[in-house]
Amino acid sequence: MNYYSLNRKAPQTTFADAVVRGLAPDKGLYFPESITPLEASFFETIKDKSNAEIAFEAIKQFIVPEIPEAVLKTIVEDTLNFDFPIVNIDKNISTLELFHGPTMAFKDVGARFMARCLGYFNKNNTNEVTVLVATSGDTGGAVANGFLGVKGVNVVILYPSGKVSDIQEKQLTTLGQNITALEVDGVFDDCQDMVKRAFMDDELTSKMQLTSANSINVARWLPQLFYYLFAYKQLKGTYKDISFSIPSGNFGNICAGMVAQKLGLPVKHFIASNNANDTVVKYMDTKSYEPKPSVQTISNAMDVGNPSNFIRIQELHNNDFEVLKANLSSYSFSDTDTKTALLELFKDYNYIADPHGAVGYLGAKTYLETNDSHVVFLETAHPTKFLDVVEAVIEEKVELPKQIESVIHKKKVAIPINSYDALKSFLIERA
Ligand SMILES: *Cc1c(COP(=O)(O)O)cnc(C)c1O
Repeated sequence: MNYYSLNRKAPQTTFADAVVRGLAPDKGLYFPESITPLEASFFETIKDKSNAEIAFEAIKQFIVPEIPEAVLKTIVEDTLNFDFPIVNIDKNISTLELFHGPTMAFKDVGARFMARCLGYFNKNNTNEVTVLVATSGDTGGAVANGFLGVKGVNVVILYPSGKVSDIQEKQLTTLGQNITALEVDGVFDDCQDMVKRAFMDDELTSKMQLTSANSINVARWLPQLFYYLFAYKQLKGTYKDISFSIPSGNFGNICAGMVAQKLGLPVKHFIASNNANDTVVKYMDTKSYEPKPSVQTISNAMDVGNPSNFIRIQELHNNDFEVLKANLSSYSFSDTDTKTALLELFKDYNYIADPHGAVGYLGAKTYLETNDSHVVFLETAHPTKFLDVVEAVIEEKVELPKQIESVIHKKKVAIPINSYDALKSFLIERA
C-alpha cells in the first residue's frame, strides 16, 4: 500500500517510509492511497473471531507485504493482549472501555503497534531513530511504555509542566532506559509547536532521523480502527444500529473509526465530543475552520486548539462539507457539565467514568435528544488517572489498579526546558 501526502506536494511512499518519517517532506499528513471494504462475510462471522484475527484482517491491506503476514500477526497479537469490554449504561447507551492496557489509556494500542512496526523496520539497522512526541497527558505514558527497550529507538517526550495529572507525569518520567522526558515551561500547544519546528529544522534532521509518535504517524493512527470492530463484535445483533461518541482532541481516534466505517463497518453516526476546545464544533456550525490556542480543562488530553487529524477526516469525506455533516455531529461541554455527568454516571448507573469518558457520555446524551440509535461512548482512560477530579466529584475513594500502583512511588526524572533552542541543543548533544 502506498501513502500520499495530504499537502499533495510530496511523492507517494511506502508504509515503512511513512512510519519512519512521520510527516511527509512537504509537511503533509500521510494518507493511504485506497481503502478497500472488507468482505461481507468478515462482518457476518465477526463474533467467531478473536480480537487479533479481526485486527489482522482489518489492517493488513495497509501494511502487508512491507511487514510480512506472519510478522504482522505476531505484532497484532502482542499489541492486543488485554480486554476491550463493553459495559452497559442504559438501554440506549453503553461504553467501550479502552483502558485495560499497561498505561490504562486507549493510546496503548497505537503506541504498542507503532513501536513494534518501527522495531521491525529497524531490526537490521544501526541507524538510531529518535521518536519525538508532544503529550497533553496520555500519549507520553503510552508511548514511553510501548517503546521501552525497543532496540535502535530513542524516545523523547515533551510535556507541559504542571498541566498533566500526577499519575500521567509518573508514567512518562519514571521509565529510564531509552526514554527521556522533557518538562516544558508552557502549554501543550507549545510542546506540539516545538516538535513541529524540530521536524522542519534541516540542520537537526540532517544530523538525526526524527519521527513522531503522535497520531499524525500512520502506525499510531490506523490501529485505533480496531476498537470499533471490537465494539461491533460484542453488540452485533443486539441493536438496530450503532453510533459512536468519541471524546476527541487531535481527532485521530474518531478518524480511525471512520476508516473502519469505510472498511464496511455499519456505523449510523459519529459524535465528536469535545471539552471547551471547540474548533471543530464551530466549524460544523459555521463551515469556517479557525484554529485557536488551547484552553485548559479537566479532560486535558483533549485540550487541543488545532486538531491535526481533522484534515484526514475531511479527506475521508471527499472534502465535502455536506457529506461530512451527514456522518458527524460535534458538541462542546464545559468542565461543570463534565463534573455533573461524572456524578450522574456514578449515582444513577453506578459507573465511575474519567473526565474524558464523561464528555463522551454527554455527547451520546445530546445526540439522543434528537436522534434514535444505540450510542457507544468510548471510555479512553481509567478514572484513577484523573484521581483528584474524580474523587472530589463522587466523594468516594477510587481503588488504584495495579498498573497505576506500580508507578506511583517511583522517582520522577525530567529535564526542564523553556524554548525551542533548549530542545535543539538537547537533541544535538545526543545525536
Ligand atoms: C488522547 C486522548 C483523547 C483524544 O484522542 P484523539 O485521538 O487525540 O482525539 C481522549 N481521551 C484520552 C484519555 C486521551 O488520552
